[in-house]
Parts: sequence; structure tokens; C-alpha cells
Amino acid sequence: MDHFLYRNGILHAEDVPVTQIAEVVGTPFYCYSTATLTRHFRLFDEALEGMDHLVCYAMKANSNQAVLRLMAGLGAGVDVVSGGEYARAIAAGFPGERIVFSGVGKTREEMRAALTGGIRQFNLESEPEMLALNAVALSLGKVAPVTIRVNPDVDARTHEKISTGKSENKFGIPIARAREVFAEAAALPGLEVVGIDVHIGSQLTDLDPFALAYRRVAELTRVLRDDGHDIRRLDLGGGLGIPYERSNSAPPLPVEYGAMVRQVLGDLDCEIEIEPGRLIAGNAGILVSEVIYLKSGEGRDFLILDAAMNDLIRPAMYGAYHDIMPVIEPAAGAEQAAYDIVGPVCESGDTFAKQRLMPQVAPGDLVAFRSAGAYGAVMASEYNSRPLIPEVLVQGDQFAVIRARPTFDEMINRDTIPEWL
Ligand SMILES: *Cc1c(COP(=O)(O)O)cnc(C)c1O
Repeated sequence: MDHFLYRNGILHAEDVPVTQIAEVVGTPFYCYSTATLTRHFRLFDEALEGMDHLVCYAMKANSNQAVLRLMAGLGAGVDVVSGGEYARAIAAGFPGERIVFSGVGKTREEMRAALTGGIRQFNLESEPEMLALNAVALSLGKVAPVTIRVNPDVDARTHEKISTGKSENKFGIPIARAREVFAEAAALPGLEVVGIDVHIGSQLTDLDPFALAYRRVAELTRVLRDDGHDIRRLDLGGGLGIPYERSNSAPPLPVEYGAMVRQVLGDLDCEIEIEPGRLIAGNAGILVSEVIYLKSGEGRDFLILDAAMNDLIRPAMYGAYHDIMPVIEPAAGAEQAAYDIVGPVCESGDTFAKQRLMPQVAPGDLVAFRSAGAYGAVMASEYNSRPLIPEVLVQGDQFAVIRARPTFDEMINRDTIPEWL
């Protein structure tokens, strides 16, 4: 469920007509719903009720400061994967003890910043990284709390670019080597091993791969405890999928995910961390765009929008599907048409949908891409010198621009010309 519904014939974001936002900020723009973001966080939090847990929002899905401030205020933790994300977390008000640092290539600078500013734990992914963190921690006179990410060699059955738990992926250490690597970590005085981390991929639409991976983690917990490690925290990663196609069968709900976690890991007396990103932000956002032209081609009609692949790259990058709906509600039984829906960028890949059946629209009409709140704005670029598009946050009947559209001059003046030119 989200808060983007037709009311009085106009798509609303909560209580605000999307047309009203478009008049103020111009198109294209991203629009997020506070109520939906809040609801999704709470669904996870409630799904783990009764277990000691922390829901750490994976900010790479949507790292706007306003979204982060909202999450921090709800009591969420946060999962960061770079020094920039760590700085965002601190700026948004997350206390260090609620910040988890993931990522396969943390630099010494990033480690230093997090150890100095405060950190719940580092999720380590390799032995070289382990040695680097040990050295950095010792140089600061600190002990770094760590989990080690294991690769459970599970097929997440998702898109290959977002599958991370197979042995051929770059992530984590092979679970078969876990005992050896945990022993090495325990021997390093700058590290304190607190638990195990696993993350097998994104947009999973089935609980089985999670359950399989978590069973391997449960087994490993027992083995490592027998080896003398104080395993007290399990970071289970993110990855629960969302329904991009409303007509398709729905992925499992957070409550079902939570029940599975309790069943597989509930008797281990561990603190549970999860790192959902997409499920919190995805359906809490839309991308609104205007139809510029309707161009009739050989046997197909092209709907040319003012949004492009630089604004929302998921269709070009992952072949992702987004529902696209007119902002003005079509009359009941209105005629449908099949469109190739494209942006103006000079690449054939700048195609959002091919032969998409949708209610007829005309130049000047607004359309909304649903499920665009995660991996949308954060992956945008200014390719073709199209300035980053604004982001808007709605709460009830109010809305605010939470990132303004740069002017052409602001975009241009980020470059500098050397004096010899
Ligand atoms: C990307 C990522 C997440 C979030 O994944 P979602 O599919 O957005 O829930 C969580 N943890 C790690 C380590 C990640 O890389």
C-alpha cells in the first residue's frame, strides 16, 4: 500500500494534487510520501517485534537528507556504504551507535572517519580489509566492533546485477572459510568480533533463498560459538522485493519475512539487524514527467517524455519495469494505446517501456512512474547536461522541495577552466 491515489480525478501524493506540485517545481521531479516511508519502516520494525532488533535503513536506495532525517526520527538505524553516506548519516542526526558500515572496499580514510565519529559496527568483507581496519583502529587507540560478511553461496534468483550471495560474486568471504577468518579476526587486538553479516541480493520476490542463507548463518553461529566466539549480533542484510508490476503476484510481506527470521534464527538469542532499502523507499516515491511529443513511427507510437534515462536509469540498466500512469485519471473505459515510452537522451537505451498499453495521453499531459522512490534519484546523472531533477517530500497536505533543481549556471559552474585556456 502507498499514498499515491486518484482523488477527484487527479493523482494525489497523500493530500496534495500532483498537478499542484508540478506547477510549482516544474517537470520532471521526484515526489516522496512521508506516510508511506513511515509505514514501511514500521512494518519491518513490527515484523521483528519480540526479538532484540534494529532496522537499519540502507540509504543507498534514497539518501536525501530529508528522508534520512525522517528515518532517524523514527528510531531507525542506517546502513552506509561509503564515507559520503556516513557523513550524510551524521548530518541527518543518526547517532554513531545506529550506523552500520557495509561495503566491499572501505578505505582507511572512511574507517578513520567512522571510528572517530562513532559506529555501531563495520561489516567486513575480506581479510585485507580486516587487517586495514585493525591497523587504523590501533592507530586511533580504539577497538572496532565488526561482523564478517559471509557469502552463503545461495542463488537469490534475482537480476544478475543485484545478486550478491553466490560464490562467484565479489561480496563477503566464502562461508566454508568462515572459521578460519573469524579466528584471524579474533586474534587482531584492534577488532572486536560481534557477529555475522549476510546480504544475498536485492529485489528478492521469494523467501526461500533468504531462509536457505539464514539457516547457513544459524549453523555457522553455533559452530563459531563452539570455537569460542561471542556471536551476539546477526546482520541479515536487505533485499526484500517490491511489486513493481501491480498486475503481477506480490512478493512476500515484511511480516512474513519477520516470521521466517524468527523461525530460523529466533532461538539463537542474537540481536537481529536488517538493512532494507528498496522496500522502504521504492513505493514511497514517484517520478512525474510531462509528455513532450507523441511521434508516430513505423507501426509504433513513441511517447517522448521530458524525463530520461539520466533521471531514472533502472529500465536501461536492469530492464526494470515501472508502472506509468496518467496524472489525470482516465475516464472509466477510456481507450488504451500501446506506446514506446522514451526520453530525449541520444541513446536507444533511453527507453522506459516498449509497446506499453496505457490510457491514451497527449502532449502536455503529466505521467507518473510508480515505484521510483528507491534507486531513482540516487542513481541519476546530468548526462546530456540535463540538470539533476528536484525531489519533493509530501506530508499530509504540505509539500517541500528537498533538493532543488540546479540552474544551468550552477551546473556549468561546477566545472572550472584552467588558467592556461
Ligand atoms: C544494497 C544493500 C542493501 C539494501 O538492499 P535493498 O534491496 O534495497 O533492500 C542492504 N545491505 C547491503 C549490504 C546492500 O549492499
